[in-house]
Amino acid sequence: MQYIGCHLTISKGFLALGKEALSLGGNTAQFFTRNPRGGKAKELDMADVEAYLRFAEEHEIGPLVAHAPYTINPCAANEKTLEFAYMAMEEDLQRLQYIPGTFYNFHPGSHVGQGVEAAVEKIADTLNSVMFPGMKTTVLLETMAGKGTEMGSRFEELRAIIDRVELSESIGVCLDTCHVSDGGYDIIGDLEGVLSEFDRIIGLHRLKALHLNDSMNPPGSHKDRHQKLGEGTLGLEVFRRIINHPLLKPLPKILETPNDNSGYAREIALLRSMGA
Ligand code: FE
Ligand code: FE
Ligand code: ZN
Repeated sequence: MQYIGCHLTISKGFLALGKEALSLGGNTAQFFTRNPRGGKAKELDMADVEAYLRFAEEHEIGPLVAHAPYTINPCAANEKTLEFAYMAMEEDLQRLQYIPGTFYNFHPGSHVGQGVEAAVEKIADTLNSVMFPGMKTTVLLETMAGKGTEMGSRFEELRAIIDRVELSESIGVCLDTCHVSDGGYDIIGDLEGVLSEFDRIIGLHRLKALHLNDSMNPPGSHKDRHQKLGEGTLGLEVFRRIINHPLLKPLPKILETPNDNSGYAREIALLRSMGA
């Protein structure tokens, strides 16, 4: 069985997150490491973490995806904003040591006029200062839609960042289906072609997780508005192909579709019925 799950809130702790994921038919989940509006992350409750780890082993829950707040900008022009990204990411990675094997997904950020080159340097600098030898987490750059000056909508940009990361074995990519389509990659008509492009530019060994979202907008729109599976411009067939692609089968897949829990449960069941 593949690792399928959805984005959930972690307000009640890790054990509750694991139980909720399972109750929806999932066997992984994604959560925000902290409030996107900023502020301090809650203290880790070690009893809860240990209870979760036992529960996850017992129920074969796969690697979780921790999502950094999308408000951080690791390539900001402003020193204060950059400092906040650094602080949040460093603290998140330290805490994730207690949940080994978790993925830490983040948005590469927006270059806000500094240009792609400068942004690549800043993102890599931030990563090199928060990553550390012995880390039990793999950091994932998310593929983005390319809204405004958003970084990461081109595979080449992700590659350039990865090339500058010192702890190369701890960096990977999370592919968001809505974002890559909005970014101009034709996963609707040519999934195989997009994957070979990914392989040529970045290397498929770097692909560690997927976000499964349909899109409200046509390919190349650079908009980033998620839609329920099968109700957007991507259509169900794309997801059937992804689920059944031999190279993608082992990777955790997270839904970030506009759904409440019953909607998520339906989509997870749908993916399971298609072979996940
Ligand atoms: Fe994201
Ligand atoms: Fe995403
Ligand atoms: Zn998005």
